[in-house]
Amino acid sequence: MKTHRQGLAANWRSFLHLAAFFLGLTLGAQAAQAAPTGTGAYEAALPAELATAKDMCALLPCQDVFPGAKSFSERLGSPPYVKALGEADKLLGYVMLSTDITDTPAYSGKPVVTLIGMDLTGHFVGIKVLKHSEPILLLGIPESALLKFNDQYLGKSVADKIEVGQTRPDENVLGVDAISGATVTVIAQNQVLMASGQAVAKQVGILAPTVRDPARYAQTERRFDWAQLVKLGAVQRLRVSPEQVGLPRGPEPFVELWFGDLNHPAIGASLMGASNWANLRSRMKESEHAFFIIRTAGIESFKGSGFVRGGIYDRVQVKQGADSFTFRDLDYLNLYGLEAAGAPEFNESAIFIIRSKAFSAAYPWQLALLGNRVDRATGARSFANFDSKYWLAAELLEGGRPVVVEADAPWVRVWKTRAVEIGLFIALLLGVTVVYALREKLTRLSTHKNKWPVNAFKYTAWGLSIVFVGFGAMAQPSITQVLTWFHSLLFQWTWSLFLSDPFIFVFWIFIIVTVFLFGRGLFCGWMCPFGSLSEAIYKVGEKIGLKRFQGHLPHAWHHRLKWLKYAIFFGLLVISMFSMGLAEKLAEVEPFKTTFLVGITNRAWPYGLFVATLLGLSLFIERPYCKYICPLGAALAMPSTFRWFGLKRKQDCNSCKACAVGCGSLAIDAAGRIDHRECLHCLDCMILYTDTKGCPPLAKERKRRERDGLLITPIGRDGYFIPIQPIQPNAMSEKVALGPDPRMPTDPVAPAHKADAQGLKWIWAELFDHLWPWHKDSWKSQKALQIAGFSLALAATLAWVLAGSGRLSQSAIIAWWFGWSVYEVLIRLAGKRYVKDGPWWQGHYRRASVMDMLSYVGFKNLLIGAALFLALKASGLMLA
Ligand code: SF4
Ligand code: SF4
Repeated sequence: MKTHRQGLAANWRSFLHLAAFFLGLTLGAQAAQAAPTGTGAYEAALPAELATAKDMCALLPCQDVFPGAKSFSERLGSPPYVKALGEADKLLGYVMLSTDITDTPAYSGKPVVTLIGMDLTGHFVGIKVLKHSEPILLLGIPESALLKFNDQYLGKSVADKIEVGQTRPDENVLGVDAISGATVTVIAQNQVLMASGQAVAKQVGILAPTVRDPARYAQTERRFDWAQLVKLGAVQRLRVSPEQVGLPRGPEPFVELWFGDLNHPAIGASLMGASNWANLRSRMKESEHAFFIIRTAGIESFKGSGFVRGGIYDRVQVKQGADSFTFRDLDYLNLYGLEAAGAPEFNESAIFIIRSKAFSAAYPWQLALLGNRVDRATGARSFANFDSKYWLAAELLEGGRPVVVEADAPWVRVWKTRAVEIGLFIALLLGVTVVYALREKLTRLSTHKNKWPVNAFKYTAWGLSIVFVGFGAMAQPSITQVLTWFHSLLFQWTWSLFLSDPFIFVFWIFIIVTVFLFGRGLFCGWMCPFGSLSEAIYKVGEKIGLKRFQGHLPHAWHHRLKWLKYAIFFGLLVISMFSMGLAEKLAEVEPFKTTFLVGITNRAWPYGLFVATLLGLSLFIERPYCKYICPLGAALAMPSTFRWFGLKRKQDCNSCKACAVGCGSLAIDAAGRIDHRECLHCLDCMILYTDTKGCPPLAKERKRRERDGLLITPIGRDGYFIPIQPIQPNAMSEKVALGPDPRMPTDPVAPAHKADAQGLKWIWAELFDHLWPWHKDSWKSQKALQIAGFSLALAATLAWVLAGSGRLSQSAIIAWWFGWSVYEVLIRLAGKRYVKDGPWWQGHYRRASVMDMLSYVGFKNLLIGAALFLALKASGLMLA
């Protein structure tokens, strides 16, 4: 028996090993992070002054997108463009920077910064991607695919109706081919190219400018105070926080502006007073439009100093549709005060006049504040644009608001254009879930000699997942998505990021639901495209005469190597905390991109060789990648510890080896217990469970009954023949009866806190148990460890609060999170070594293995961390 002192020493040793492991990973990650991260346009550094520099082409390779040009003008117009000039300054065409015109985000949530050349007839003559943040173009799909995509536009006109997909002559739609696996990126890029080209073409007269019907204001004598104007949406706020521009978080905004329409008689008179407003109107033409801006917080001037030098206000802009309007000193008037009751104090103010007929107050518009964002890690400055929307309320417009059809966000377009395939995919997932939920009907129809009732469904699922899901929809889930989810749960949830790939989004809903219901086996065993491909190859090997070469690794090796996938998963998780880019690169340990997205032949040979080796090995070993390497499988295995519904076992399984021998996943141990983290739900053991010829205890009982001329009753839910009256106990040896209970993955435990708790007392006992890792007895025996834990807990809590108020870095919080979780695992293993088995509302507890405890603590703390951040945010302590 170990003494407490030995136990303590062992705990400290484990703690030090784990700490060393994480420290090693951290140092490795940081060293790797210091290395250059990529080539090409991925996250390429752009000049800080790019957004405002007059001579744009001195900073950018304009020649590349307009090869015949001899020189380029300075930036002109609004939105800006430059003229491409030939011999004797002959005008040849125009060059524009996409982010001067639109900041449509692509898959990464950031725009693809593109330089575009257009000739005098509005045809694209050159397109160059300067910077993108699309991970898929860095890792899976070569960047050249985006260049090829752009090349399709050369020679096409900005007046054409160009869409990603099929050409439809009857609708005048010119189709361009998508990049498989990067649909959102190319839909966004199409919007960017067309919006940029058209905006400049309208300015220079290639396309007719947009003319919007002028607003007709509803007449009212009403006067509004400030609060009413805010409620009506007649004044709007644009608030920029310090962290949005790369400064440390703080309670004060970087800048806070209020702005609103001044043309509407009721709003204008309410804000300025009737005589001031009449005076303003008398200084403007009928078609001109005035709006005001005041700064109520922050020290950053919205006027900037540009207007002093060049007469241009370079920090504010109004945008309406694809048009943008900038202001010169002639468009500026002083605003001395606001007369609306309750108007806030301000320290800067202005009235700006829009003189273009393209603007109409009847339609929505945005006030944009242009600035710079500083990357705190590298000090690099990049252009940033913050805007706030404005649209006069329907009651202020005669006849209400006009109908405005706004372009769908790229992710919405993907959902719309692929609605049928998405529908079919959802039907497939629902079908598989229903079939699996009814598995007992199928397993009872099958026998160990005829498994077709099960296999027909399973093989169909494999076929569809390989062909339709994997190669067709390219919807192979990946560990990088788990890492992204993990970060999002802890720090910031962005729906559009997850919705931009509908198949992956739907697939993950299926995975999360089924992992909690049944464990990872339904996804891994039936629906994972790569897993299905791997096992299908094994089955083909069996059919083509390779059966005698097929087998599995010796058990001792298997049980060592199976931990490798968990180490890979944890390694990637830790690295992702320091560098998501590096973690994504290391996630190439997954063969998925090479197999389904890019193709073996389209990648560098080491990737191809890796996939070919894995698939080749699959001919001889069942799913080698799934068993030993797959970090996604490991990530899903951990919550499978808590699946609600497990597979059935009977007491005799503890000494019968029949199922274990047939288990291709080697998931059944010597006591007949199933490790649900490793089980891939092939259902072979479930077939045996009711097979009166295949299951040895059933076969024995069947033979006994046949010999004695007794009734052969059906097999009950407990896996035994329904007893004959009077009850005939099944012949169960003492060894079997007294052996371990294979229905529980480990021995049952009855924690004291649950002894007689009911209702609210039960909920309190549960909560306390989850939040308080210490056991009262171990407190006395392991004081040093307990005190260390208390300090850690305190430090961790403090870290979360500091993080919430912006005073601690993300990496430090994560480090605390890990430190605390490791400690909690150790302390629970020492004093509260149990986890729940089955649904959370039930009370079946069992002894926890180290992996059980890791899974439990990791998952619980992730949820607590997410809840803490949400609470901090909701309470206003966390500055968004
Ligand atoms: S272990 Fe990995 S590759 Fe295998 S089935 Fe599961 S997710 Fe797919
Ligand atoms: S035989 Fe093995 S892999 Fe198949 S269902 Fe049973 S435990 Fe799972």
